[in-house]
Amino acid sequence: EIQPAERMQELPTQFFATLVRKANEQITAGHDVINLGQGNPDQPTPPHIVKTLQEAAENPLYHRYPPFNGFMFLKQAIAQRYKEDYGVDLNPETEVAILFGGKTGLVEISQCLLNPGDVCLVPDPGYPDYWSGVALSGARMAFMPLRESNAFLPDYSALSADDLNKAKLMFINYPNNPTGAAAPASFYQDTIRFAEKHGIVVASDFAYGALGFDGQKPVSFLQQPGAKEVGVEFYTLSKTYNMAGWRVGFALGNPEVVRLINLIQDHYYCSLFGGIQAAAAAALTGPQDCVTSLLAMYQGRRDALYSALDQIGWKAQRSQGSFFTWLPVPKGYTSASLADLLLEEAKIVVAPGIGFGENGEGYVRLGLLTPEERLREAVNRIAKLNLFS
Ligand code: PLP
Repeated sequence: EIQPAERMQELPTQFFATLVRKANEQITAGHDVINLGQGNPDQPTPPHIVKTLQEAAENPLYHRYPPFNGFMFLKQAIAQRYKEDYGVDLNPETEVAILFGGKTGLVEISQCLLNPGDVCLVPDPGYPDYWSGVALSGARMAFMPLRESNAFLPDYSALSADDLNKAKLMFINYPNNPTGAAAPASFYQDTIRFAEKHGIVVASDFAYGALGFDGQKPVSFLQQPGAKEVGVEFYTLSKTYNMAGWRVGFALGNPEVVRLINLIQDHYYCSLFGGIQAAAAAALTGPQDCVTSLLAMYQGRRDALYSALDQIGWKAQRSQGSFFTWLPVPKGYTSASLADLLLEEAKIVVAPGIGFGENGEGYVRLGLLTPEERLREAVNRIAKLNLFS
């Protein structure tokens, strides 16, 4: 009998896997399921990016092992994009690590920085992949509650002295998954002061950096003075360019953290397939109108969904960014019982808030990854359940 290592028992189960399984059961049973659960972009990758990959596949340069840590042209491309979009200077040699999607870096940073007994500060509710690296490194999580009354920002003054003494790493994520909240520059400035004071490395997850609603461009952690001294920002092409399946992301900023992430990646993967790197560079340096139209599409979907929800009496604060909406569950339900009801009775998949942490209880997350008419159809189905009468 095969005995897994003890650390494997620490890994949390992937609750999205359960969600997808339940949805598939309904689809297999022949139901017309509207999937608002998983955050999987529904649009194709822009054609000029796909074409670059097709051409790159013919280029023998990319058939050999890529350089360790990836091609310099891609590091230069992300540095150029940050300069144009945020006015941030990044040294492509020392301040950029290329990742297999943001996800790998979010797990690796914990392995790079945490020892058993250390503490990692994690937002609750939050993206569950932060938990995995902490579990693998044998460290402990201290949750930072994100409450609606505090605009879904953490309250650093509420952390215990013991957690603060032991904390070595913290995750922040705005625009936020799952709450859809955005953070002002002052929040990042407070975070940098807090991290300096307590000797904590900041991991700013900027996966939804391109997706700010109502004309509000999201603020980057790296735009704030002192950011590079205390941490890194994780960026990904998955959402911005509809490239979730291509698996390209970056860790940007503090050179020592970038060095450690590159080092651990040398051992795992060498680097991404070169053709993918060429296509990623084309995304970053090519025309950006695809990003503008993507944002307009999500804004249209967000507005359509909330106005339909308003009409059936499901009141919620508008999300400010990301492609998620975070809705309070009606009286008499938990997030899980509501999610089950919506799947069974309305054939709609939503993500129960409890899947993102204890403080996610009381909410469900609905994604904007389906066309407007399907969102309206979902609300029509919900209306029939009379949840608000
Ligand atoms: N961070 C957040 C908050 C996310 O929601 C996601 C994807 O869903 C990621 C990071 C990772 O994205 P990827 O690994 O595709 O770059």
